[in-house]
Amino acid sequence: MPDKRANSGQVLVLNCGSSSLKFALIDPRNGDASLGGLGDALGHSAPTVSWNIGGEKHSAPLKEGAKHTEVIEFVVNHILSGQGTLLQAISAIGHRVVHGGEKFSHSVRINDQVIRAIQDCVALAPLHNPAHLQGIEAATKAFPGLPQVAVFDTAFHQTMPRQAYIYALPYELYTEHGIRRYGMHGTSHRFVSERAAAILGKASTDVNIISAHLGNGASIAAIQAGKSVDTSMGLTPLEGLVMGTRCGDIDPGLLLHLGVRLDYCLKEINDLLNKKSGLLGISQLSNDCRALEQAASEGHQGAQLALEIFCYRLAKYIASYHGVLSKVDALVFTGGIGENSAFIRENVVSRLGGLGYQTNQARNLEKRFGAEGHIESATNGAPSPTILVIPTNEEWVIARDAAQIIEGDNSTPSAQSTGGG
Ligand code: ADP
Repeated sequence: MPDKRANSGQVLVLNCGSSSLKFALIDPRNGDASLGGLGDALGHSAPTVSWNIGGEKHSAPLKEGAKHTEVIEFVVNHILSGQGTLLQAISAIGHRVVHGGEKFSHSVRINDQVIRAIQDCVALAPLHNPAHLQGIEAATKAFPGLPQVAVFDTAFHQTMPRQAYIYALPYELYTEHGIRRYGMHGTSHRFVSERAAAILGKASTDVNIISAHLGNGASIAAIQAGKSVDTSMGLTPLEGLVMGTRCGDIDPGLLLHLGVRLDYCLKEINDLLNKKSGLLGISQLSNDCRALEQAASEGHQGAQLALEIFCYRLAKYIASYHGVLSKVDALVFTGGIGENSAFIRENVVSRLGGLGYQTNQARNLEKRFGAEGHIESATNGAPSPTILVIPTNEEWVIARDAAQIIEGDNSTPSAQSTGGG
């Protein structure tokens, strides 16, 4: 029987990392958040929880070594207990899960089979999937009987064709070990591509979109008729664009060079590529785009070079995705950088003049702090292809999927499940 509370219910959205837990209480109908917060330094000596409710910010210490269970207990017993009927309004829990491998191409209601399948994907996301499983266990304890839904970062990219996801390596690495491109940020790419279609007044299935999600992590996706057909992240989130501290594309021979010639061990190579590279590594200053823009404007050469490389790599990917898609209806910028940085958008677009792209300067400058809309120039004899800035909202997608699934509404693709088998 469908759970009636879902019709008017709120969804508690959980994003569990190895030492953190982001939580938000979301209305699936409009994405409004009545609560947002973060449990931090979990498992360490001084964990904390901070939250924002009704526009007011709060924080509190948790006991030494506290983990996901204690954060959820705190949310239930201290934050929500004094908020009238808010606790009773929760009709489902939605979990962000980083890796669903090839097992999940849609969001699914969590059951024992799904938990086993998430466990099976631990090798593909050794830092993330175990934390998600802890979050699921903690939520089950705190909300026994409440439906829980898993929404996978990888699911949207499961529509990629073989030529996009198979690496040019011995084929048995794919068949025996699942080594292939999976892609991440799928929830965000899906959200903004659906939103772009709505802005263009068309169905998602009628538009082709290039979506650039630019945050600390960054990826780009080619989306054809509503389906992802290529994306820049790979087996792991390290491949592709230049990111805050990750290198993105490099010559794989470089790894051998580091190991054989320069005596790096695996841990050092991992730290180098994931934590010391990208904008931080090039600039030798910061991984933060805003700080680099400021420094670059004051003449810092490392910051200038880092931003140039970031924009050059992104423009190259956008141009290549024009070769992937038969036609492009819109280029979308999203994520903290994509939503806020007129400088980056202008720099990237100015490299794509050969494809006809051009920004409208005033519109580009206006788009920040959550503003949505067009930034292309519609003037000049040949108008630019459409360029949109669209604030992403992954929590809303998770809440929507959770609500749709527990309502048993299988009329939209996002509510259909592969069953997790
Ligand atoms: P995460 O991947 O951690 O979710 P975000 O999507 O929040 O990251 O993006 C963080 C990035 O957005 C940082 O590099 C930050 O400097 C950048 N950013 C935020 N606001 C601006 C701004 N006004 N101008 C330039 N960059 C910005």
